[in-house]
Amino acid sequence: MIYCDYQATTPLAPEAREAMLPWLDGPEGTGFGNPHSPHRFGRQAAAAVELARDRVAALFPPGGRVIFTGSATEAINLALRGSHPPGDARPVAVSAIEHAAVLDTARALRCPVEILPVDREGLVAPACGLPDAVRLVAVMQVNNEIGTIQPVDVLARRAKELGALFLCDAVQGAGKLAPPAEADMIAVSAHKLYGPKGIGALWIRDGVVLEPLLTGGGQEQGLRSGTLSPALCAGFGVAARLSTELLESDARHVEKLWARVRSLLPEWELNGSADSRWHGNLNIRREGLDVARLMSDLRTIAFSAGSACASGSGRPSHVLSALGLSARQAKSSIRLGFGRYTTLDEIEMVAESLNAAAERQDMR
Ligand code: PLP
Repeated sequence: MIYCDYQATTPLAPEAREAMLPWLDGPEGTGFGNPHSPHRFGRQAAAAVELARDRVAALFPPGGRVIFTGSATEAINLALRGSHPPGDARPVAVSAIEHAAVLDTARALRCPVEILPVDREGLVAPACGLPDAVRLVAVMQVNNEIGTIQPVDVLARRAKELGALFLCDAVQGAGKLAPPAEADMIAVSAHKLYGPKGIGALWIRDGVVLEPLLTGGGQEQGLRSGTLSPALCAGFGVAARLSTELLESDARHVEKLWARVRSLLPEWELNGSADSRWHGNLNIRREGLDVARLMSDLRTIAFSAGSACASGSGRPSHVLSALGLSARQAKSSIRLGFGRYTTLDEIEMVAESLNAAAERQDMR
């Protein structure tokens, strides 16, 4: 089986796994403590959480704090709902290609939601119109379906000029690109950067005030009650540290894979910009392709027919539609995602299998 779905989730880095194990039971069976307990078991676990927090903080700009959450979805909910004063009817603006975690949460806020369009390349215009009195702008750093890198720093500066907060969903960019330096809040997820599932984080710039969604024990500076998992924190911390250390070599590796796979798939058209993108995401289409049949023909390759969340619904992806693709074009698109552990041999085998399976369909 060849794994080509790195945008859905990444394999757990062996180093992150190693870092987690002592906090499941050991060392010497004392690693299971509650990090919020005052005795030695608790203090040990709390030290592991704080070390992890420092490591995760390296994914963000200076001048803010890291709040651990259960996922990026929760971090985004905390940012959007926690910054929304009840009854405030000022609009928020979000890009048309945001993940559902942003789009659906913004729509649930009971305020007008302005959708910022993208061009054929899948990019939000840096000079796009922002509504008067906009309260918050949310644009992602890297799109999960097509990999395009958005001009988030320019947009964040524009939001700031209008007195609005800027939220950046950096789930697909964290540990791959420099952080969005101008954002006020940044959401990330461990399992997209070779860490464990079940933990994310929200970075909050100093001075930004949020209301908690979860109340209770008052953990995470009162912003996210609930006992933290030291094992998940430790795994996230090591995965974040590794991603920062390997930022350039990971990028060089995916560039090499990208160049090779593109050269082997000349009949396939690229969705989204070729340049302003994370090159570990290849979203391509072939006119008239039956993607369901392709997937059932290629059961030894794990890839996606769109985003993992949207696939299965039968509806064309909202991201591909926002690019101006027809429903037919969107439905004949696939996404290959590769990264740190993908080999050149694997990507060559994938390209060969895709071409052969598509040609079998052409001959029908
Ligand atoms: N934002 C983007 C861009 C994503 O790709 C995802 C996951 O697919 C999420 C948010 C949600 O992340 P999580 O799985 O941590 O809730």
